Amino acid sequence: MSELPEGQVPELQRPRCAYVSKSTGAGCLAYALKDSEFCFYHDQRPETVAKRLKALKKGGKKTNSHDGLVDWPQSPIDSLEGLRNALSRLFNAGAAGELATARLTALASLGNALSKTIEGSAVERRLAELERKVFKETKED
Ligand SMILES: [Zn+2]
Repeated sequence: MSELPEGQVPELQRPRCAYVSKSTGAGCLAYALKDSEFCFYHDQRPETVAKRLKALKKGGKKTNSHDGLVDWPQSPIDSLEGLRNALSRLFNAGAAGELATARLTALASLGNALSKTIEGSAVERRLAELERKVFKETKED
């Protein structure tokens, strides 16, 4: 292996970001910034936050998974109430600029499909209930 100039750390030995996801407990695999224990996406110092927002606006699209959904709780959305809460959270993340537009658009479209599916299951449940009642009544006659 070749000698590195004094003060330089070989790439593989560079410290990783200290961020740990609250929902999954998984650590961030990105390299930490030279002068921080966090990576570019998790460093909360004002100057890094400003740089990040600037990069976000400039790029428009992001090439990695770091965004406002890092701590998104993984839970089934099985009611319109649950969907309403999820959409409300997405709306706020989108309005705050924490989400790439393409991702927000895809999620909005999925939310729309989910809403129809949830409504469909509710109708099916009511129909099954009705059928059961009608069947019971005709049987009793
Ligand atoms: Zn990180």
